[in-house]
Amino acid sequence: MEHHSIESKSISGGCYCGRVQYRVQLPVKWCAHCHCTQCRHTQGAPVVTWFGVDKNGFEYVSGEQDIAWFDSSEKAKRGHCIHCGTPLFFLGEKWADEVHITRESTQDDILQKPQVHVFYDRHVHYLSFEDELDKYGGPDGFSPLADTNK
Ligand SMILES: [Zn+2]
Ligand SMILES: [Zn+2]
Repeated sequence: MEHHSIESKSISGGCYCGRVQYRVQLPVKWCAHCHCTQCRHTQGAPVVTWFGVDKNGFEYVSGEQDIAWFDSSEKAKRGHCIHCGTPLFFLGEKWADEVHITRESTQDDILQKPQVHVFYDRHVHYLSFEDELDKYGGPDGFSPLADTNK
């Protein structure tokens, strides 16, 4: 009997200068485009795509000491490389069992396309996002929006 063990597959990624490198076990839990103000401002980007993995499937390959963490809110912190500035990680109380990782920090196929837009009602208006994905927003960022063209 053949075993197709997706659990045994891992992907790796890291920062632009290469000092911080990580490895995660697939499958990832989810992948989403985030339009929240914090993501946009701290990463200097109109939208930031993230994927989430189980903490148990995450490990540093190198450079854990080269990460600067800052509290982006009372309940979450973000980590970037202190040398090249690449935003890499998000840890939040709400997702205590997960590590959230910027999609662009890996060139590997994470076997999960983006599934949804969150905080969509805060999206920038100088770029259009015309896709079929569900768009969420509201105070918590994750509630269905009545009018997705907002
Ligand atoms: Zn770096
Ligand atoms: Zn965000």
